Amino acid sequence: MARRKKIYEGKAKILYEGPEPGTIVQYFKDDATAFNAEKKDVIDGKGVLNNRLSEFFMTGLNQIGVPTHFIRRLNMREQLVRSCEIVPLEVIVRNYAAGSMSKRLGIAEGTQLPRPIVEYCYKDDALGDPLVTEEHIAAFGWASQQDMDDILSLALRVNDFLSGMMLAVGIRLVDFKIEIGRVYEGDFQRLIIADEISPDSCRLWDIESGQKLDKDVFRRDLGSLTDAYSEVARRLGVLPKSNVTKPTLIN
Ligand code: C5P
Repeated sequence: MARRKKIYEGKAKILYEGPEPGTIVQYFKDDATAFNAEKKDVIDGKGVLNNRLSEFFMTGLNQIGVPTHFIRRLNMREQLVRSCEIVPLEVIVRNYAAGSMSKRLGIAEGTQLPRPIVEYCYKDDALGDPLVTEEHIAAFGWASQQDMDDILSLALRVNDFLSGMMLAVGIRLVDFKIEIGRVYEGDFQRLIIADEISPDSCRLWDIESGQKLDKDVFRRDLGSLTDAYSEVARRLGVLPKSNVTKPTLIN
């Protein structure tokens, strides 16, 4: 049997050439990193949970007409996605102040923002993904003005969808990050949601208790990351409601 071709290995995922042209297999690792990989660990079961949760969010987005790269889940740790050219930006949407925004602007974590704020960071690990403005994006040709209009509209639609879905299960969507892919269809190009949507890339707080159910649990040593992610999955109905043991969890 021929070995499949690895296209790229990142901090939390590996991309392999897919079975058909234009497809990619996205493998979710158990590796957790924070602070630009200064803090690292392997967290048993994280990849399985993120594969299932990202499938859940991306499928929902596809169903409401927000295009994503997701095609189908293949197994516990892998999903088939559409190959696309990644726009070199991390698109962050914030509903409440937290993390780097709180630090940068001195606004207390948890302060509700008057409206969702969209920020862009230039995707470059060596530079620590610096915050950039639309001026930089246009000047350096990372995305056109039309792209930026589409990206803003996609980001806000994802925010509405995810916020509502989380609110329904007692979770506050504080902020999240998405990545955008470019696909070509004949003479046209289209932008789609790529990468993953999971508690690795969102801040999720329990509405009642304020308990953190996202990667900050790892970043700030607040307890078990898989317990937090399992709780999100259980509330959303992605995992069985019963007390899940590890083997059930990965089915
Ligand atoms: O660190 P910061 O407050 O800027 O993060 C905002 C949101 O973007 C958080 O939900 C965080 O998990 C996510 N993020 C990410 N990948 C990065 C940077 C931020 O998923 N490289």
